Amino acid sequence: MGLIRLEGVHFRYPRTLVLDDLSLDVRDGAVTVLVGPSGSGKSTVLRLIAGFEPPARGRVVIGEETVSRDGRVMTPPEERGVSLVFQDLALWPHLTARETLELVLSREVPREERRRRTEEALAAVGLERHAEARPASLSGGERQRVALARAIVTRPRILLMDEPLANLDPPLRRALIEEIRQLQRRLTLTILYVTHNHEETFGLGDHAAVLRAGRVEQVGPPRELYERPRSAFVASFLGRCALVPVRARDGGHESALGALPLPRPDPAGSSELLAVVRPEDVVVGDDGPLSGKVERAICLGSAFEVELAGPGWRLWALAPAEPVPGSVLRFSIRRVVTVPASNP
Ligand code: ADP
Repeated sequence: MGLIRLEGVHFRYPRTLVLDDLSLDVRDGAVTVLVGPSGSGKSTVLRLIAGFEPPARGRVVIGEETVSRDGRVMTPPEERGVSLVFQDLALWPHLTARETLELVLSREVPREERRRRTEEALAAVGLERHAEARPASLSGGERQRVALARAIVTRPRILLMDEPLANLDPPLRRALIEEIRQLQRRLTLTILYVTHNHEETFGLGDHAAVLRAGRVEQVGPPRELYERPRSAFVASFLGRCALVPVRARDGGHESALGALPLPRPDPAGSSELLAVVRPEDVVVGDDGPLSGKVERAICLGSAFEVELAGPGWRLWALAPAEPVPGSVLRFSIRRVVTVPASNP
């Protein structure tokens, strides 16, 4: 069920149309990841849900309540049960972790309750030992935990997170992805999470929504979007792939790579298609029916991503060992998906 619903939302700055008839359901008690290129409107979606701005047209619903509609904010941000976590943590430099949390609560909560909730939030993010530390003496990960604790100490139903881990190194990011996941489950939070990062998208998202120029291009479990993208845009956004033009003809099809293992029936129902070829589906091996010249190889650590080219095509393969640039590799393609060529 959608805890948050955006219905036909329009939003613009004087020179820019940011959200263009956008509709989105954010499921209750799950993590929805919002991905899309810079400027596609992701942060604006969060701002509208938080209540900093109303949509010019359309409405924002939280639970049963229409919180803003057609240029009007009906429910102010502090009454929406929503907390935010940004990449820029904006921690108060002169306050300890404990003081930060107590200050967030101070207005409405009696003192004893405030203490109890503060301890709970510090424990929830594993910060008990750093309760008396100020931001300057904390590591990046610990500061991020203070920001998380500050966001949950008010016991929100909804967490809006805008690239919160973008400044952290990969191992720490991985650890925090896991911690956010556990926290979300334990507190049954509904999270809308903006990111560019694939690890966060696939590691955190129960659902993902891909934004393109102020509209939702596709929504679904991240793995489903990866495996069954509806457009070349979604396919490319979620991971490296080659797009090979395919033309259906006389019950069969042709491409610069010959016949490809197209899914049947053709889901796009069109004669002009693009085959999405992922590196992991290109199997390098001497018995492969196809061959291509090695243009370059990128070391991924565990394997090499190799760009292969031939007459009228170019694609990426995964190879266990580093190939010689300019050499010819044999390969086969074990799986492709197709998207319409008319909606690149
Ligand atoms: P994203 O989070 O996907 O990068 P944003 O929602 O931040 O996108 O921004 C969407 C568009 O709105 C961008 O083109 C951006 O330049 C523009 N924009 C954002 N904030 C402002 C502002 N305060 N004034 C004018 N334009 C803005």
